[in-house]
Amino acid sequence: MHERLRGVRVVSFDVDGTLTDKKFVDAVWLRGIPEIYAETHDTSFEDALKMVMSAYEEVGENSIEWYLIDYWLRRFQLDVSYEKIFERFKHEIRVYPEVEGVLQELSAAGYELIVCSNAAREFINVQIADVKHYFSRIFSAVSDFRQVKKSNGFYLRVCEILKVKPQEVVHVGDHWVFDFLNPRKVGINAFFLDRRDERCGTFVIKSLEELLDILRPG
Ligand SMILES: [Mg+2]
Repeated sequence: MHERLRGVRVVSFDVDGTLTDKKFVDAVWLRGIPEIYAETHDTSFEDALKMVMSAYEEVGENSIEWYLIDYWLRRFQLDVSYEKIFERFKHEIRVYPEVEGVLQELSAAGYELIVCSNAAREFINVQIADVKHYFSRIFSAVSDFRQVKKSNGFYLRVCEILKVKPQEVVHVGDHWVFDFLNPRKVGINAFFLDRRDERCGTFVIKSLEELLDILRPG
């Protein structure tokens, strides 16, 4: 049983590992791209994978390019649209089972629901297509603010845009720094989603269903 939070207006969700699992994203980067690379450059999948992985590493997750699929398609000279690749792996998208019910209840209770992800917008859009109608706004650190991580500044900008105080926002996500420590630093009521049940603490939840307890009306 959690303590009920009062005065919350906005509930914010991370995407990868929070609303959806990571299979689709992995399939695009670690199967789709190397497969097309192998076809295009007439090499084996193994060689293509090595080549692609070393390029990913060289750029690294602190560069904005890391997140931009069009950059990679150009760099590897792959004559295919990202939409085509997404289409091919769409069946790998899996929204966690409790998500829809939780979004439904929170929105019926009057909360404004938003997404705060560091993924690029095209990934977010395809991954949450089935539940997108629950969200009033979708913020992508990379696409909207050219930031590679959800920093304190990112969260403050989101509050500014929504015209709410950080104290009126709940954020939940599965990254200890970018979904928990950073939003907490600016006064957001952040919760760490620990689906693997490894941590415990007042602000750790194991499933999004626990939000219904934290945000229960009355
Ligand atoms: Mg995540």
